Amino acid sequence: MRIGFGYDVHRLVAGRALVLGGVNIPYEMGLLGHSDADVLVHAVMDALLGALALGDIGKHFPDTDEKYRGISSILLLAEINKLLADRGFRVNNIDATIVAEKPKLAPFILEMQENISHCLKVEKDLVNVKATTTEGLGFAGNGQGIACYAVCTVFKVTSHQ
Ligand code: MG
Repeated sequence: MRIGFGYDVHRLVAGRALVLGGVNIPYEMGLLGHSDADVLVHAVMDALLGALALGDIGKHFPDTDEKYRGISSILLLAEINKLLADRGFRVNNIDATIVAEKPKLAPFILEMQENISHCLKVEKDLVNVKATTTEGLGFAGNGQGIACYAVCTVFKVTSHQ
């Protein structure tokens, strides 16, 4: 069994879609980034790469590469899952916390979990997503951006854990 940790932040701006966990969330602003800026999926990807000591998403999907402009991060997550599978690993579980003052994310959490578990080809109850505010404090609290923390465990399929 191996553990990984991921953290990501994106700035909230007008004129962008807000995509979290592959879910389009109705809101007056969205996250700025080269891809769809799905901060939840980015943190999950970094956690998975961390578990396998494979660097970070910037190394695998450079934001200078035009082919990743506007891409759905769920597609990139599938690529990371292939890297795991190629090395004989499978996701054991994922736990993530989105830090956002607004909008309220509770109605969308289940769909985020389903999108991530489906993409990773694991059971739904192995992926947990939470959302919290910072009670108005800091960049998340004042609405400048959204952050996400994620941890994962992975195990080697081909040997005893
Ligand atoms: Mg990111």
